[in-house]
Order: sequence, then structure tokens, then C-alpha cells
Amino acid sequence: MKYTLPPLPYSYDALEPHIDARTMEIHYTKHHQTYVDKLNAVLEKHPALAEEKLEDLMKKWNELTIPEADKMAIRNHGGGHLNHSFFWNLMDPKKEIDLKLSKEIQASFSSVDEFKKLFSDKAAALFGSGWCHLVRDASGKLMIYSLPNQDSPLMSGHTPVISLDVWEHAYYLKYQNKRADYIEAWWKVVKII
Ligand code: MN
Repeated sequence: MKYTLPPLPYSYDALEPHIDARTMEIHYTKHHQTYVDKLNAVLEKHPALAEEKLEDLMKKWNELTIPEADKMAIRNHGGGHLNHSFFWNLMDPKKEIDLKLSKEIQASFSSVDEFKKLFSDKAAALFGSGWCHLVRDASGKLMIYSLPNQDSPLMSGHTPVISLDVWEHAYYLKYQNKRADYIEAWWKVVKII
């Protein structure tokens, strides 16, 4: 078993009232654990790939020459593991504002508030399950886009900077169908900008 759940750097109730403890617990111990388990299961069939860094596997995902179902399993569960690991860290209450990033965001999107609005609109508009990302491309340029399912920005050679899970499992217990309310509350737990 190669991959394990990364330790959560705060308690389940640390993000209350914005993200409730029950959602955090289920999201982390059930949903994320399932991505980890299924990623390990597919990599057991491909020991050579298991030797590689997961980030590198995602970057060259298109070129993998393994059965299509296994390839999709790496895309879905490898992406799920990376996305969630990044997401937990981003919401760590111990995180401090990143002034350099804030300045870059102001330069790219005119203001942090304008950026949050663009990002929130993109996240709200995503049809079905997926993630909204602020990414950096190979030249360092910042971009906002959403991706379906657990697709990783790494597959396009982009580095995630801020990522929001908009699968219903991330918010349904507290916010039900009110995704916009979840998104608005989520900004209160992202302290880096
Ligand atoms: Mn999730």
C-alpha cells in the first residue's frame, strides 16, 4: 500500500461554522480515503508506475500505455488524492496571508475581491461534480478555470494555487443545494489572500 491519507493539520471542527465538523470528517475519512484505496489498487497492477511520483504520473497521464480502465482509475483517484491533499492544506487555520500571491492576484485580476468574484462565479457555474482552480501555467501566468470530476490541473502542465471542491459531498450536509452559500463561506477559511 503505497499511499495513505495525509494527516489533517487541524481538527474536524476547526473550520466551523463555515465548514461543519461532520462534513469534514466524512469528506476526509470516507471520500478521500476511497480515492487513496482505489489509487493503491490500480497501482498494484502497475508496479513500474507505482515507483513514480504521483504528480509526474498526472503530468504524463496522456502518454500512459495501460488499459483504458486503469488509466481512468489513475486519473480519477490519483487526481482525487492530489486535489484533496491540496485542499485540506489550503484551509489550515494556521496559514497566513501570502502577500506576494495577493499582489500577483491584484495585478492579474485588478483586485482580490474581483478575483474572488470571478472564481466564485466559475465555481457556481460548474455543471455537476468538479473543482474550480486558480492555477499557474508554465510561464507563471495565473488563470481560473473549472475541471470536471477529479481531473488535475497537472494534466495540463499547470500548478494549482487555490482549489475549491464543488462536489456536493463537500457541502450538502450543511448547505444542501445552496452551492453559492458554501462558496461564499469557504472564502472565510482560505486565509492566504
Ligand atoms: Mn471532495
